Amino acid sequence: MLYFFLLSTVLWVIYLQIPKDVFSPQEVSPDGGSVIKLKKRISQSLELPKKILNKSPEKINREKLEPEIQIDENLIEHKVIIGESLASIFQKYALSPQLLHKILNSGKEAKKLAKIKPGQTLKILINQPNTIKELELVLSPIQSIKITKNGSEFLSEGFLKNTEKRLSSAAGIIESSLFVAGQKSGLSDAQIMEMATLFGWDIDFALEIRSGDKFRLIYEEEYIDGEKYKNGAILAAEFINKGKSYNAFQFTSDNGEVNYYDSEGRSKKRAFIRTPIKFARVSSRFSKRRWHPVLKKWRPHKGVDYAAPTGTPIRATGAGKVIFRGWKSGYGRLIIVQHGGVYTTVYAHMSRFSKKVKLHSRVKQGQTIGYVGQTGLATGPHLHYEFRINGVHRNPLTVNLPKAEPLPREIFINFQRQIKQLALRLEKISAHDYFVKKVSDKR
Ligand SMILES: [Zn+2]
Repeated sequence: MLYFFLLSTVLWVIYLQIPKDVFSPQEVSPDGGSVIKLKKRISQSLELPKKILNKSPEKINREKLEPEIQIDENLIEHKVIIGESLASIFQKYALSPQLLHKILNSGKEAKKLAKIKPGQTLKILINQPNTIKELELVLSPIQSIKITKNGSEFLSEGFLKNTEKRLSSAAGIIESSLFVAGQKSGLSDAQIMEMATLFGWDIDFALEIRSGDKFRLIYEEEYIDGEKYKNGAILAAEFINKGKSYNAFQFTSDNGEVNYYDSEGRSKKRAFIRTPIKFARVSSRFSKRRWHPVLKKWRPHKGVDYAAPTGTPIRATGAGKVIFRGWKSGYGRLIIVQHGGVYTTVYAHMSRFSKKVKLHSRVKQGQTIGYVGQTGLATGPHLHYEFRINGVHRNPLTVNLPKAEPLPREIFINFQRQIKQLALRLEKISAHDYFVKKVSDKR
């Protein structure tokens, strides 16, 4: 026992000697804490039970697979893998089914242990063979369940950590590409995409980006116990493209809906997105006369065809109401969505509909309504998409898409009040200064 205690202490001391800079800067919070620290400590104090120190390596390896259970106190950190249940994990560590039964029935929170999932971490503190002192299931970085032995009983408790939101900012100047500039300014790829989406109606990021374009933004970061947990939402952003400035501010309406508007209160979204499928190839355009491959005759093509594999999700291009959902001769499986009084969009040849979308359902912009197929008259899997204004077919690729409604006057006043501080703060971030500072920090 004493030997083991000494060994643990030695390992702990060795651990403390590991220089802090072995962790990448992102993983270490400003106060030096780190999630990795905890994992290191546990694996190092567990690895070598006292009795196997003088044995051959093969023997050690084998014994590591079958954990020693004679140890007085042992903290097991077990990462759940596919196919494992709590019962199989208990068996692995020589813990009896009776003990499992007792723990699962120790309270409401303990019931959640039965739904253990791959990727979650189970920490078991064993103090005697087949005796658990404490058990913790880490559901996520913010949520866990803890079972503690209390006499002959067990107590179960759920824990939810508070996340703290902090504001952060970034800025950059584009030299070669948006992604390079974004990464240099400390943004994640997801944040760069989010920014590009935000200005997607103002700037064509594939064709219009120029060297010298600038951006700056203010975003949230979420922290748990002083350590960064994840990035939060972008609150304010400015993008200067070819000398023209565009801005965006997040605004939460009274009914809790979160949207982005420019400083004049105009929505950053259009009433419609251009394409109902992400990353699809246009296989047939809108035209007055087209040779129909199935009917073998010349006919107008009153929509756009997107070639995509069967099962690719199809998005409603605007918010609206489903006015047709069913089979219609050559169209096959078809959905028609009505948007306000003037616009309708048509989605044909679907393999199946989304279960959530029924006749008369309200759909949101971007919501999946069905999946690509080749039902009706179709030579291969594709989506046939139509855009109609007052019943007249228009070319979906070139039609002037209506802008979303601006904020009503009384809400706009509230909006201006809400964004005032952010706008001032955004103006103070100088892309050039920020960029130079970041580089010098890395020395
Ligand atoms: Zn078509």
